[in-house]
Amino acid sequence: MIADLHVHTNYSKDGRSTPQQVVDRAVEVGLKCVAITDHNEFRAFNDLKDNGRVIIIPAEEVSSSEGHIVALGIDRQIPRGLGIQETIDAIHEAGGYAFAAHPYRWWSGLGEKNTLKFPFDGVEALNARSVPHANRKSMVLAKRIGKPITAGSDAHSPSRIGWGKVTLPDTVTDWQGAVQAIMAGQAVPESVNRHPLESLRYGFKSIGEWLLRGCRRM
Ligand SMILES: [Zn+2]
Ligand SMILES: [Zn+2]
Repeated sequence: MIADLHVHTNYSKDGRSTPQQVVDRAVEVGLKCVAITDHNEFRAFNDLKDNGRVIIIPAEEVSSSEGHIVALGIDRQIPRGLGIQETIDAIHEAGGYAFAAHPYRWWSGLGEKNTLKFPFDGVEALNARSVPHANRKSMVLAKRIGKPITAGSDAHSPSRIGWGKVTLPDTVTDWQGAVQAIMAGQAVPESVNRHPLESLRYGFKSIGEWLLRGCRRM
C-alpha cells in the first residue's frame, strides 16, 4: 500500500488543493493513504475522514519556534509557536507522534542538532520539496537515529501529490493501522528531489512572503 505522508490542502495559507482535490488526485495516482499535514491547521481531517476512498491520517505540520514538526495521529490541533519540547509534549498529549520534518531545509527545518537533541518519535527521511543533498543527509540522519521514518511529497498543489511516499504493508485498513505500521518501522520511503534552481526561487519566495506576513514565519 502506498501512502504520501506529507500533503497540504488550501487550509494551509500557501496550499492550492481543496481537500476534495487531494482525495481525487490521490486515487488517480494510486495512493491508498494520505496524511494531511496542513500548516498549523487540523480541519481538513474532519472534511475527509469519511471519504470512503483514501485512508486519511489525522496530522498537522506544526511550526515550532525552531522549525517544522510533523504530527501524525493527533486528535486535535496543536498550537504553533511553542518550543520544540513543548510541541512534542502537545503532540503526545493529543495521542500522536512527532517527526522532525525536512530537518536540513533552510529556513523551516529544525537542523541536525535539534533533531538529535530532542525526543522525536521519528524523522521525515525524504521530502519531494527538498534538494538532493538535504534528502541524502536526512536519510543518513534517520538511519543513525534508528527511529521510525516517514516520507512525503509536501505537495501544495494536486499535481505533486505522490511525488514522495512510503510503502506500507497491504494489511493496513485504517489510519490507526497505518500509524502503527510506521511506528513499527515498516514504512519504506521513496521520493523525487527538488531541483536546486527551484529552491533558489523558493528562497526568494519565502523571504517575500515572510515580509508580507509581517516577518512571521509560516
Ligand atoms: Zn515544512
Ligand atoms: Zn509541508
